[in-house]
Amino acid sequence: MALTIGVDVGGTKIAAGVVDEEGKILEEQRCHTPARDTAQIQSAVVGLVKELAARQDVAAVGIGAAGFVGADRTTVLFAPNLAWRDEPLGAAVQAQVGVPVVVENDVNAAAWGEFRFGAGADVDDLLMVAVGTGVGGGIVLGGQLLRGSFGVAGEIGHMRVVPNGLPCGCGRHGCWEQYASGRALVREARARVWDGDPLLELAGGSATGITGPMIMTEAQAGDALCISLLADLGQWLGEGIASLAAILDPRVVVIGGGVGDAGDLVLEPIRKAFDDNLPAAANRPHLEVRLATLGNEAGMIGAADLARASS
Ligand SMILES: [Zn+2]
Repeated sequence: MALTIGVDVGGTKIAAGVVDEEGKILEEQRCHTPARDTAQIQSAVVGLVKELAARQDVAAVGIGAAGFVGADRTTVLFAPNLAWRDEPLGAAVQAQVGVPVVVENDVNAAAWGEFRFGAGADVDDLLMVAVGTGVGGGIVLGGQLLRGSFGVAGEIGHMRVVPNGLPCGCGRHGCWEQYASGRALVREARARVWDGDPLLELAGGSATGITGPMIMTEAQAGDALCISLLADLGQWLGEGIASLAAILDPRVVVIGGGVGDAGDLVLEPIRKAFDDNLPAAANRPHLEVRLATLGNEAGMIGAADLARASS
């Protein structure tokens, strides 16, 4: 049985795991992401891989990276939260670990993990919408991961939804992730919270102390503001998903990221906004919106499986 290693390089931590053909993680290692230093990130990845490969016979390594990954599947073209610019990450790691290495966009890897072993294991066409700090996307059509000509397909968070809207880290204005992300949820909460709201109390009396998990907690406890904030987030998400469905026609949309913790408080508004905004909604089948099932490990499992397929 061929084992492979999946590595998930995030903004705060790097996680690496040995994964089998069934998508099961046999062993896992983690470390903090060395801040903004590409050479240190690379050596941290090599360290984790070598440690795991010393104990398990592995055939290949897949690295999921939060950034734009080139069509060569080795170069990180751009990473908004890490210092990668045209970084030949895959080739550099491969030279040190001695087995084939492929690099994938982290949400593409997570989408593939959910498609192979998670919420979309029963379908051929899937769109993953990962709602975290930003909004990431991964697209599987006809059982194939959609990478595009230049490797950067599926950057759905940068679909423009508001002309001349809020500025985005990508250099444009009005991108979907400025309205439909965890960061947008927190921004709105800080702007709308009022004196005496339990959310403000939970945040220590200061709006700047409000975090996403606090909003989830208060919404589940019945706080009207937090429920309405999640409903607005769901509305933005559902509208955008309706536009994407007009292009991609997926069978299932998998919602990943921390917002999934809100369950029906966000899912129901997403489904309603989707149904209300899908073109010709009354005369076509509607896709299903589901929550991701692999959690934080989707990227690692997906990257390991993509490495297996290409080795
Ligand atoms: Zn953008």
